[in-house]
Amino acid sequence: MNAHDSERIKGMLEELGLGEAPSADDADVVVFNTCTIREKPDTKLAAYLGEAAARKREDPDRVIAVGGCYAEAQRESIFERYPFVDVAFGPGSIAHLGDWLGAGGSGRRQPAGAIARGRFGLDEREFAARLPMHRERSVQAWVQVSMGCNSKCAYCIVPSVRGREQSRRPGEIVAEVTRLAAQGVREITLLGQNVNSWGRDLLPEIQTGFGELLRACDAIDGIERIRFTSPHPKDFRDPVIAAMAECDAVCEQVHLPLQSGSSRILKAMRRTYSRERYLALVERMRAAIPDLAISTDIIVGFPGETVEDFEQTLEVVAEVGYDSAFTFVYSSRAGTEAAGMPDQVPHDVKIERMERLVELTQSIARARNLARVGRVEQVLVEGASRTDATLLRGRTRRNTTVNFRGTAAPGELVDVLVEGATSTTLRGAETNPSHSLLTMDACAS
Ligand code: SAH
Ligand code: SF4
Repeated sequence: MNAHDSERIKGMLEELGLGEAPSADDADVVVFNTCTIREKPDTKLAAYLGEAAARKREDPDRVIAVGGCYAEAQRESIFERYPFVDVAFGPGSIAHLGDWLGAGGSGRRQPAGAIARGRFGLDEREFAARLPMHRERSVQAWVQVSMGCNSKCAYCIVPSVRGREQSRRPGEIVAEVTRLAAQGVREITLLGQNVNSWGRDLLPEIQTGFGELLRACDAIDGIERIRFTSPHPKDFRDPVIAAMAECDAVCEQVHLPLQSGSSRILKAMRRTYSRERYLALVERMRAAIPDLAISTDIIVGFPGETVEDFEQTLEVVAEVGYDSAFTFVYSSRAGTEAAGMPDQVPHDVKIERMERLVELTQSIARARNLARVGRVEQVLVEGASRTDATLLRGRTRRNTTVNFRGTAAPGELVDVLVEGATSTTLRGAETNPSHSLLTMDACAS
């Protein structure tokens, strides 16, 4: 979601006449789009802001803006804590950035010396999706379908910084996807904090469910691949599974956050599903969608997690066999329910559990990728490989990065024979590099 919001911030700045600077040192306006989901991004921001303050001391005309979830969470204290910050704004207030920065980003719209205090406040949020966009990737696009979250996961700060869930209307989403397709976008990722509960707040006026939204996007010419993130297991209903199974463009891939494999901990987390319900959902999905790739999010060291609870997480990981997993050490967030819970797990215990979990998730991911060696996978070409410029890079429908020999251009869908694998990537060769044949013909003639 932050990557999407950053693209909108860039788009807005471009409309104000501000292009991207080659480095932070060269920038007249520096905008930080912050995350505060765990403590680590807060710490990183403090270091970046220290550097920005030093640059501002050299050149006081520089404008420093801090947006996003950290700014919203620290709305009461951000200007006191960082007095050199000129503008601060929450994730729902990106639309107003232009008013504060002024044309050309002069930051001088305010009376001399006054700080543009920015705008927070979850009551007057606006969809970032309605702002101009600067897409970082030419053939892929994020599409925001909702903002905010109505869940109450005990560890999570998102509801308090992004507010209650609000869905975009289906017509607006379909119009955006149609526009993107006309611009050459081949792959879209529908975005929401709880993407599959999309549309509930539009009832009874609009009765479109998330499965129908997938079908509507599937029907748009030019869109070859549809993904969505993140669904909540509690809201994964059969019509969504049916749409995934039946729509050609919807990829055989799902990100299904587990968080914990212990029903006791899941209850304390207020995830509202049990280990058994989660596993039954995986079974239903695998039965309906052959070759489904599953990724997940897992937290270790939630308050009260015993070694038995943690071992249940390892069991579920082994049973599901995830293709990839984002693993997080539990981080206490001020104001969340879990921050006040007794039995916080000591740091060294969390780290030790994390190491065991990562070892298991990586070995399973490696085995699952190795099992694909010898197969031909459809790959959407993204550009040159990041590690070897003689190779191309793309992604399979199952969302695995592939580095491969070939001649295709970004945006093309090609078949790639998988020749090798690590826990995170595949390598291979295009099976039918038609371009090199055409070039040879042209040379021969
Ligand atoms: N709305 C999405 C993603 C939320 S944030 C969802 O519900 O799936 C992404 C991930 O960060 C979460 O899935 C969770 O695994 C992790 N996370 C959130 N809060 C955390 C915390 N306080 N400590 C550690 N990990 C956390
Ligand atoms: Fe946070 Fe839970 Fe909402 Fe995800 S579903 S954003 S983890 S409260």
